[in-house]
Amino acid sequence: MDEKIDIKSLTLGELEELLGGWGEKSFRAKQIYEWLHVKQVTSFTEMTNISAKLREKLNEECVLVVLEQELVQISKQDGTRKYLFALPDGNMIESVLMRYKHGNSVCVSSQVGCRMGCQFCASTLDGLVRNLSVSELLEQIYRIGADIGERISNVVVMGSGEPLDNYENIVRFVRMLSDERGLNISQRNITVSTCGIVPKIRELAKERFQITLALSLHASSQEKRLKLMPIAKKYELMEVLDICRMYFEETGRRITFEYSLVGGVNDTDEDVERLCGLLQGMNCHVNLIPVNPIKERDYVQSGQSEILNFKNKLEKNGINVTIRREMGRDIDGACGQLRKRYIER
Ligand code: SAH
Repeated sequence: MDEKIDIKSLTLGELEELLGGWGEKSFRAKQIYEWLHVKQVTSFTEMTNISAKLREKLNEECVLVVLEQELVQISKQDGTRKYLFALPDGNMIESVLMRYKHGNSVCVSSQVGCRMGCQFCASTLDGLVRNLSVSELLEQIYRIGADIGERISNVVVMGSGEPLDNYENIVRFVRMLSDERGLNISQRNITVSTCGIVPKIRELAKERFQITLALSLHASSQEKRLKLMPIAKKYELMEVLDICRMYFEETGRRITFEYSLVGGVNDTDEDVERLCGLLQGMNCHVNLIPVNPIKERDYVQSGQSEILNFKNKLEKNGINVTIRREMGRDIDGACGQLRKRYIER
C-alpha cells in the first residue's frame, strides 16, 4: 500500500501541484493551506469551505499530522511551560514556551534523540531515534499557540536534536514558518542552533535566510572542545570559526556563540582570555549558559564569580555578551531531561 501524503509538510507550491493533479483549481490549495497553517485545524472535517467530496479525497490520500499533548509542566518561577508531545508513531518530544516582554518564544526539538554525543546534554544519552518531519516541527508551535491562545512571535531551534543533521526539513520549516501565507514569523525572529556541522553551515549560508545562527562553541581550544563535543573531531575549532566568518559575510547576520559554563572545565581565566583572542574583531554575540547539571554526568555549574569574570573579560575586550537567564529550572529545563525521565518511568 502506498504511504499517505503528509499534507502539512507540503509547501503551497507542492499543495497546488497535488490538487492540480486531482483536477482542482489552485485557489483550493490556498484555502487548504490556510486551514492547515493559519487556522491550524486538527481534522479535514473542519475545512468547511471545502466540499465534502474533496474532504473525503483528502482523508483517503493524506494524513493530517497532529501532536498530542502528553503533559505540560508550568514553572512557578517564570511561567515557562515545558510540553511533552506524542508523535503519531508514539515517540515523545519536548518543546518549551518562554514568555518574554517582547513576546512568546517557542523552543522546538529537531529530532527524537540526538547522535552528537555532547557530554553535558541529556538529549543525546540514548542516541538518535529519527528526524522530525516538517509537519512535526511546525506542529510544536501550532499546538502551543493553541494551548495558550496567544501568538507565537519567536522560534528557537534549540531543543533536542541537531537541526543541521535534519537539514532538508529544517530549511523547509524555516521557509514555511516565515511564509506570509502561513504563520508569518519573521526570519529575524528565528534562531537555529548547531554544534558546528561545517558543510551544512556552508549550505545554509547559501539559502540567504535572515535567521540567526547560534553556534555551540563551549570551549576556546580544540583540545578542550573535543573533550566536551565529539563533533569537534570531524570539524576542528578553527574550521568552525572560519565558516562562521563566512556565514556572516554572506548573510550579514551576526553569529551567536553559545558557551555553556562547566565548573572547573571551561571557565578559567585562561579559557576566557583565549576566547577573547579567538573572537577578536568578529561581529558576534556570546551567550553564556551556566550548565544545567544532569544526573548521568558529574558536571557542576561554574561559581557566580567565574561566570561574572567570564562576562566582564569579554566585555572589556569589546565582545557583546549576555548570561542566559535560566528559565524553568524547576521543570526539567535542560534539553531532553523531561522526555528521558518520562520514557524511563
Ligand atoms: N544541537 C544543537 C541544539 C542543542 S540545544 C546545538 O548543539 O547547538 C541548545 C544549546 O544548549 C546548545 O548550545 C547545547 O550545547 C546546550 N546544552 C545542552 N545541554 C545543556 C546543559 N545541560 N546545560 C547547558 N547547556 C546545555
